[in-house]
Amino acid sequence: MRDLTRIERIGAHSHIRGLGLDSSLEPRSSSEGMVGQTSARKAAGVIVKMIQEGKIAGRAVLLAGQPGTGKTAIAMGMAKSIGQETPFSTLAGSELFSLEMSKTEALTQAFRKAIGIRIKEETEVIEGEVVEIQIDRPAVAGAASKTGKLTLKTTEMETVYDLGAKMIEALGKEKVQSGDVVGIDKASGKITKLGRSFSRSRDYDAMGPQTKFVQCPDGELQKRKEVVHCVTLHEIDVINSRTQGFLALFAGDTGEIRQEVRDQIDTKVAEWREEGKSEIIPGVLFIDEVHVLDIECFSFLNRALENEMAPILVVATNRGITSIRGTNYRSPHGIPIDFLDRLLIISTQPYTPEDIRKILDIRCQEEDVEMSEDAKILLTKIGEDTSLRYAINLITSAALASLKRKGKIVEMEDVSRVYELFYDVKRSTQYLLEYQSQYMFSEVVNAGEGDE
Ligand code: ATP
Repeated sequence: MRDLTRIERIGAHSHIRGLGLDSSLEPRSSSEGMVGQTSARKAAGVIVKMIQEGKIAGRAVLLAGQPGTGKTAIAMGMAKSIGQETPFSTLAGSELFSLEMSKTEALTQAFRKAIGIRIKEETEVIEGEVVEIQIDRPAVAGAASKTGKLTLKTTEMETVYDLGAKMIEALGKEKVQSGDVVGIDKASGKITKLGRSFSRSRDYDAMGPQTKFVQCPDGELQKRKEVVHCVTLHEIDVINSRTQGFLALFAGDTGEIRQEVRDQIDTKVAEWREEGKSEIIPGVLFIDEVHVLDIECFSFLNRALENEMAPILVVATNRGITSIRGTNYRSPHGIPIDFLDRLLIISTQPYTPEDIRKILDIRCQEEDVEMSEDAKILLTKIGEDTSLRYAINLITSAALASLKRKGKIVEMEDVSRVYELFYDVKRSTQYLLEYQSQYMFSEVVNAGEGDE
């Protein structure tokens, strides 16, 4: 059981940790799990850079190329290198066609998952040196509340604060004495001990890097401490949708969200932006297998990209010229020309044998499989003749074959064994062509190509 769980966790792209570029965006030949595909990686790196610098929003990128040429891997690499704060949401085209929600609702949710809001909360902290603390013991023995006074000297003036029981408790915990430097949060009244002497650099450290000092007109030295939260618009939607509640966020079962809820949230967010309380972080929405989208989805995307909060849309497809779903028209990648015209197109190229070998090496490491040099040469050859994905799939099965014969490492014989056991597309098609007549529905084969 434990082994099975572990194997399941090694995903197809778990070895990808970034785009493998250096600081001038030049692709390293093999880095962060990425191999080859240099121009596509560099192009993706430029997009990531522009996203990080906030230079583009509402743009769309198409990763186009043959199956198994690393389109999804590059999108994953972009996600990894884009930084924690930037939201990255992914969607397979087919997920849009669910019975639970309409296509446009699913797309709206995906878009809003890719738009982050950074909400800033500011609290004012008055800082000063403690002159005196005087605690009034309660008159009745055993009574809980105590009161007291704290005399605080800021740079210009001396202020006396009346303290409640809570603050006295806090002071007790902090063991504040006269001569200490403390900060009092204006809103909550919370007292924090900042240090013993009036050392500015220490105070900065104590309050963290987000602290700014502001000299107020009345001479009071105040601190503004920012607390920053990052959430996505979708999270705000779900939390505010009365029928769902925030638990739906964990269940992932959010259902449809009413337009009024979204409108209210957009208005609120716009208000926060104007007041300088929040910032929009347009993230990335990745839609794989984009050719399965139909004409209505494309029309939705066209419009959604024009919204000022729109994220960067990255789509991928391995199709050539094919029909646009929902129409009788054919177009490149099955994408309507007007939408295609918006896209920055990055194309991926088939891998060289050396690249295949390096990717297989990385996958062996990732799947914890030790393989002999001969076996790797054979597997690389198989990868060239069939596909990279097929060769990757043989790694774990060859390891199981080796385990079964109690071998120490995976040898050529294990690779050949699984190559014979599992067919790749070419051999499977060949087999079908030979034995077509024995399958069901062979009667509908085109006249002339008949098998009779
Ligand atoms: P499809 O069109 O069939 O969806 P794809 O172009 O999205 O294919 P991927 O799924 O990205 O192909 O690649 C197949 C496998 O090869 C994945 O496990 C992926 O992580 C790995 N891979 C592809 N390209 C690279 C690369 N340049 N470096 C490292 N691993 C790669």
